[in-house]
Amino acid sequence: MPARLLTGAPVVEDLHREIETRLATLSPDAPRPTLALLVPEDPSARAYAKAIRKQFTKLNLNIRAIWLEETASEAEFVRLVKQLGDDASITGILALQPLPRSIPRLLLANLIPPEKDVDGVSFAQQGRLALGQPDIAPSTPLGGLLLLRHYGIEIAGHHAVVIGRSPVVGRPLALLLLAADATVTICHSRTPNLAEMTRQADILLTAAGHPRLVTADMVKPGAVVVDFGVSVIDGQLVGDVDPAVRERASALTPVPGGTGPVTTAVLACNLLHLAGLWPDWPPR
Ligand code: NAP
Repeated sequence: MPARLLTGAPVVEDLHREIETRLATLSPDAPRPTLALLVPEDPSARAYAKAIRKQFTKLNLNIRAIWLEETASEAEFVRLVKQLGDDASITGILALQPLPRSIPRLLLANLIPPEKDVDGVSFAQQGRLALGQPDIAPSTPLGGLLLLRHYGIEIAGHHAVVIGRSPVVGRPLALLLLAADATVTICHSRTPNLAEMTRQADILLTAAGHPRLVTADMVKPGAVVVDFGVSVIDGQLVGDVDPAVRERASALTPVPGGTGPVTTAVLACNLLHLAGLWPDWPPR
């Protein structure tokens, strides 16, 4: 029997309903939570910015988009983020990847104030996550966990294998799974015999950005497979998981329509948390 498709739409619906309820508690003249969105000159970043704007506009959340030229210097970038950090009308700051080449990869982790860090990239927020006490967790991996929970998939006590160790997806995902009492294995490009690892997974989660990396023979029959990968092939979005996996797994997130839309909804939840409108977010 083909795997059950774990689509993101019902998870998004639930999160949007909760966001709308919480926004309704604001008085009409109170400022709406506002996201400062730094958008680099990159087609995938621009597409993601468009998706964020669409969902946020629907929710009546404010966005201030700022274009980042590829020629932006480190000093200009530092000045901009500091200005946004000091601006009381800004609730959260998100700098989409890839940042201009002149910006060192870890600069943002030091620069962004944790109380405006809407995607959990700062050292303080990443540190809390590493200690199992997340305040703001990166939206993509947290969305993946919420998706599993929505469909009643048990995490505790199961073996989760994560492909990818980037600071935005794989690494925080592994920490969230650990906090949810999974036994976690992290794989990356230097892992020999990837298939040997993935075949041990009760839950296999992949964030490699390598189209169709996970083939059916790499999946234990009946495993749950979560695909974060997004690549464009012949104008089509494809994930890390080969379509034949559907015949082997018990459940699978589609690409598109799986983890992607949940990411943006979680970003909105994170923004409400920073605005003080959702104190007990993220869910434990
Ligand atoms: P990234 O920074 O390039 O990291 C990719 C990770 O995968 C690295 O740790 C890399 O290993 C590992 N990897 C790559 N090829 C591999 C292979 N053949 N075997 C084993 N490991 C491999 O990418 P990212 O920012 O984490 O994003 C990953 C994917 O998720 C991309 O397709 C991106 O578009 C997508 N994404 C989706 C969402 C969503 O909402 N669904 C959000 C953000 C990103 P090394 O560390 O050894 O290099």
